[in-house]
Amino acid sequence: MKHIDEYRDAKLAKPLVAELRRSVTKPLRIMEVCGSHTMSIFRNGIRSILPEGMELLSGPGCPVCVTSAAHMDAFISIAERDGVRVAIFGDLFRVPGSQGSLANASSRGAKVDIVYSPMDALEIAKNNPDELVVFLGVGFETTTPTIAATIMAAKIQKIKNFAVFSTQKTMPAPLIALLQDPELKIDGLLCPGHVSAIIGSEVYEPLARDYNLACVVAGFETADILGSLIQLARQVNAGEFKVENCYNRVVCKDGNPRARAMVERIFEPCDMQWRGLGMIPESGLKIREEYGEFDAERRLEIELTEVAEPKGCLCGEILKGQTIPPRCPLFNKGCTPMNPVGPCMVSSEGTCAAYYKYGQDL
Ligand code: SF4
Repeated sequence: MKHIDEYRDAKLAKPLVAELRRSVTKPLRIMEVCGSHTMSIFRNGIRSILPEGMELLSGPGCPVCVTSAAHMDAFISIAERDGVRVAIFGDLFRVPGSQGSLANASSRGAKVDIVYSPMDALEIAKNNPDELVVFLGVGFETTTPTIAATIMAAKIQKIKNFAVFSTQKTMPAPLIALLQDPELKIDGLLCPGHVSAIIGSEVYEPLARDYNLACVVAGFETADILGSLIQLARQVNAGEFKVENCYNRVVCKDGNPRARAMVERIFEPCDMQWRGLGMIPESGLKIREEYGEFDAERRLEIELTEVAEPKGCLCGEILKGQTIPPRCPLFNKGCTPMNPVGPCMVSSEGTCAAYYKYGQDL
């Protein structure tokens, strides 16, 4: 497949591995922000070829993992209401709340539909006019435009039994929140590729300038990631911190203004609760009043209740780069993909799931 296969070619990767080894001349801690990068790094064996002194930490970029326990409980309680069915992306189905998961609720009779797109949820609403179909919005800038487009379509088509519960989140607010922690010692960020296609690479410039962080926007194939790690090492060696875009076949400096305009028409910034990071001002998106008829939070008067994190689970610390899954006492003991305790073990982009699947000793 064009633009993918060539970036997976071992002939391209081998010299990049050699160059990475030459480029890392001192200890280097890099946070990969995005859950898709975490998975790609594990899947492609990149951790096993890292030069001595180079450390990769996962960050807060797995949307399911950063969904708060309070939101998970609210999702489950919505699904259990009479006359309501919820539509979700598959990752959310088995994430535990304090009283079980949407999968458990479904087995008790709650109506939970797994969809590939919010537009599928709109179709379900059309086919079930006697029920309110609530799409549970969990994601970053990558998924928000399609939700905005679906709400616009629902308005135009006058579909009254469709709503969205938005827990959509934005970058780079959580990174700025993380960087306030003096204990977090990182030299650079492997910046997300998909999100940056929407928000552009220039949004990371304050992070490079104000926090002396090397920032490189990266794609997801082996050569993309190796090339980006080399650029990060070179910036740190030179002591010149800036934003570089190593994914310019997809990402440009100002992102996708059309997609952002569509999002801005439907959504406005709001404070948002994050797992592990708590409430971060203006880090989420809520539906504007003008489109309030599609806002499940208003229609169903949803109140969030305080919920404790699962006992013993270190997802919050993992999402802040403070620890790694094998240091969690429950890892591969009380917590496995079949019996997950926290979201990082369930999500297809979760760090615990990546360690479990691809190598626990790395
Ligand atoms: Fe939480 Fe399980 Fe990961 Fe431990 S291994 S941090 S309990 S998800």
